[in-house]
Amino acid sequence: MTMDSNKKKTSYWQVSQQNSSDQGGWQEQNTIQAMEHLEEAAKLLRDGFIVAFPTETVYGLGADARNTTAVEAVFEAKGRPSDNPLIVHIANREQLSEFVSEINELSEALMNAYWPGPLTIILPLKPEVLSARVTAGLDTVGVRMPDHPVALQLLALAGCPVAAPSANRSGRPSPTLAEHVQADLDGRIEGIVDGGATGVGVESTVVQADADGTVTILRPGGITEEQLRTVASEVRMDPGLAAGNNEGLIAPRSPGMKYTHYAPKGSLCIVDGDASKVKDYIASRLHEAKEQGEITAVLAFSEHIDQYQADGLFSLGSMERLAEGAHLLYAALRSCDEIGASYILAEACPSEGLGAAIMNRLLKAAGHQIIHVT
Ligand code: AMP
Ligand code: MG
Repeated sequence: MTMDSNKKKTSYWQVSQQNSSDQGGWQEQNTIQAMEHLEEAAKLLRDGFIVAFPTETVYGLGADARNTTAVEAVFEAKGRPSDNPLIVHIANREQLSEFVSEINELSEALMNAYWPGPLTIILPLKPEVLSARVTAGLDTVGVRMPDHPVALQLLALAGCPVAAPSANRSGRPSPTLAEHVQADLDGRIEGIVDGGATGVGVESTVVQADADGTVTILRPGGITEEQLRTVASEVRMDPGLAAGNNEGLIAPRSPGMKYTHYAPKGSLCIVDGDASKVKDYIASRLHEAKEQGEITAVLAFSEHIDQYQADGLFSLGSMERLAEGAHLLYAALRSCDEIGASYILAEACPSEGLGAAIMNRLLKAAGHQIIHVT
């Protein structure tokens, strides 16, 4: 069957001003109409259809996590490999007992500190409640409670655990605007709740919290290592995250680790090293590439961006405030595709705080191509 004969009618619901970066704004616009929209979207979820919605990290594509047909539709719409498990989203902690068998003290302390928020905790699964497609057959499940009024309201109205990966075609940058979801998934899903721009801009941090007091970061994200250290005595990065482990030298503890994600269509390389040498290197490579007829783009911090000449100059905000980079990164990667960039360079940032998540996503986007200039 062709794609056209399978084409779905995608409903759009506007629940805040378009492109508003102010999530708090939704509160004031919590009009009867927005509530009606969310009820409609929640009913679709309960009826086994798939709907995209905003969270504080990126837009998610939700399905009732107990319904295999619905969950399969998510994999199908995204073109996502079926061995990559989905994160389950909840509106309140009472929902956990439905599908989680046990919560240790450390996991509970993390929930107290960072829920709702961009932290996914891997927990032991109660058998036969969720679709096995959600967990890719694992005996654990990744769970989080998003810190976004639209997401929380939708999840509460749906009343079921909602499996939701990012609402992009697999391999594309995660969506931080409803327009990104539309570009990737229009006609493939039943609905899009438009709540304006997301907040953090990179996905949640995925952790496993062991009874011995150790937190292992399986994916860096919106909650930083430093923040986790305020709760746990021992915090470590999973060795599977190390650069160059793309070929699966260390068996991934989190299946998502092994996939190249977020790739722009052009070739992307990261440049790391002493700031002034990085600037000179990038400037001269962009110049050479332009002479060879490439369409060039650069992702750079605002402190240096004026010094480059390229067809696309995309700012990652200030190097002093990496939250800006996290917020801008995916839209910048999409913009590279929009201008048809064939040759893209990105400045590296320190892997501290949110910088760990930025570098993790940039490295994946670049297929781990990084040049260290000395
Ligand atoms: P995404 O849905 O694209 O944000 O990716 C979800 C991430 O969570 C992937 O990296 C998965 O591998 C990871 N994940 C989800 N569930 C589990 C689990 N039970 N154990 C380990 N990692 C998980
Ligand atoms: Mg994703």
